[in-house]
Amino acid sequence: MNEKNEDLVNYLVEREFIRSSKVEKAFLDVDRANFVPEELKNYSYTDRPLGIGEGQTISAPHMVAMQTEFLLLEKDSKVLEVGTGSGYQAAILSRVVEEGEVHTIELIKELHEKSSEKLCEYPNVFTYLGDGSRGLPSKAPFNRIVSTGGVPEVPASWVSQLSKEGVIVAPVGEKYHQRLKRYRRTGFGIDEEDLNVPCIFVPIIGKDAFSD
Ligand code: SAH
Repeated sequence: MNEKNEDLVNYLVEREFIRSSKVEKAFLDVDRANFVPEELKNYSYTDRPLGIGEGQTISAPHMVAMQTEFLLLEKDSKVLEVGTGSGYQAAILSRVVEEGEVHTIELIKELHEKSSEKLCEYPNVFTYLGDGSRGLPSKAPFNRIVSTGGVPEVPASWVSQLSKEGVIVAPVGEKYHQRLKRYRRTGFGIDEEDLNVPCIFVPIIGKDAFSD
């Protein structure tokens, strides 16, 4: 067990960013340092986003924790993550949905390749290179969809790829300022909930998101 990672997890639990034991266990299992570039390793256990190259970032641990909790994951959930980035969020998700699957799509080839190598250790994670603003139709439907980049609004394709009682969590708003929102498919349509978390994610660039 890595003591510094444990300190980070305790910090996230004390501040209630981590609220459930299954998410706590996932954070203890996955060492953030493995997903941080060599030159920034010293900052692995600080609660801030860090550059991962190509102008992109690994999100701050409290944001990863919040999105993971807001997804209301079940042990066998089939999850789509849009924006693999470093692969850290995908690794955390995979430990929470032990009997489920995590499908994660990244637009930038270099990041896709680097993260795919690291995610080899996680047998229930499947990585894809492409524009996730259209979702991932070949693997739909999904019980959960999480976006780790900001979108102007949730793309219709995500909603159509969401299974019954499915949940989407995404930062929605302007290119450099969003709010976390949660959408749930009910018997009557889609419920939208503002989670009261202002945030700054890098934008999702694509056909159904921001143009660059
Ligand atoms: N989940 C990541 C955070 C990545 S930041 C982590 O844990 O490290 C968001 C990522 O979304 C960036 O890597 C960016 O390249 C990617 N991205 C932007 N537009 C995208 C698109 N249309 N489809 C897939 N990925 C996209």
